[in-house]
Amino acid sequence: SGSPYRETIPDQYYKPADPVYTLDRKANATFVMLVRNSDLSGIMSSMKQLEDRFNRKFNYPYVLLNDEPFTEEFKKYISALTHADVEFGLIPKEHWVQPPWIDEKKASAAREGMVNQNVIYGGSVPYRNMCRFNSGFFYRQELLQKYRYYWRVEPDVKFFCDIDYDPFLVMQDQQKVYGFTISLFEYPETIPTLWQHVRAFIKENPGLIPVDNAMAFLSDDGGESYNRCHFWSNFEIADMDFWRSEGYSKLFDYLDEKGGFYYERWGDAPVHSIGAALFARKEQLHFFDDIGYRHEPFQHCPQGDLHSKSKCWCDPGQNFDYEWYSCLNKYDALFK
Ligand code: GDP
Ligand code: MN
Repeated sequence: SGSPYRETIPDQYYKPADPVYTLDRKANATFVMLVRNSDLSGIMSSMKQLEDRFNRKFNYPYVLLNDEPFTEEFKKYISALTHADVEFGLIPKEHWVQPPWIDEKKASAAREGMVNQNVIYGGSVPYRNMCRFNSGFFYRQELLQKYRYYWRVEPDVKFFCDIDYDPFLVMQDQQKVYGFTISLFEYPETIPTLWQHVRAFIKENPGLIPVDNAMAFLSDDGGESYNRCHFWSNFEIADMDFWRSEGYSKLFDYLDEKGGFYYERWGDAPVHSIGAALFARKEQLHFFDDIGYRHEPFQHCPQGDLHSKSKCWCDPGQNFDYEWYSCLNKYDALFK
């Protein structure tokens, strides 16, 4: 009849599945992916690379979060990509939607103003919900309570290099709290009043801020003004206990109450970065120089010996580190 001819490869040709690596120890850590059902193909792409380059050896679990229930199809395709545990969480409404005490008239006027200024996502409420959630709520999700360290992963990112060591253990052993690959300047239109609130908070809570902080990453004039530098939060390897601690919790609540997530368009990147730079000692911030990473439109590509040591495939000539819009030089300067 008309059925197509397909020859099955006999089992004898197959190597055993992934070798089981013996690991002497593991950190208390997970991947975190906030995605929509419509992000399936993009997040499969990111996750497949992560498995191939790192996690097939290290077997860390995944937590996927969504403000709507994941479809059965979504769960099936994601779970098939890994041997590790995968959990799917539904975000409680009150952690996601615009809070009732926000003045919607004021918020919609602000959105309209930003649309007219052509600010990216300026007119979007869901984007603002996402930024507020990532700033102050993801680490409170029930599925994440058992974990301390996390690696944030977004759809459609690229991992260029082999990661043959455990970055979570490095964080844990060296008491790091925040790891990044790319840093840059924030759009001023999204954060007109953010820094004045941060300054007021610092004034009210001087005891929460260690002397060897990283304020010099955020400000070129000792805290007077914000230079708009932030770590690009679509990649983060960090310590959730740090976000759960008194300093950051108080800062988030303080900022949330000002309403700037909706009256402006505060991103989770500047909010996390300000928290990390103020409440951690500067040595607790870590630049993952050996992790080749791309989120459109920028990439970090390891240079020199690091490129070969990590078996990277990115073009070393395409590297954001010291482009004019990068803040890496200000991170470097912390340690000079
Ligand atoms: P960009 O990187 O700033 O351009 O923003 P993205 O569109 O990549 O969003 C950042 C992250 O939040 C990604 O992981 C998205 O999948 C996720 N995200 C954005 N909006 C929503 C949303 O409305 N619902 C859910 N569940 N996830 C979202
Ligand atoms: Mn993104």
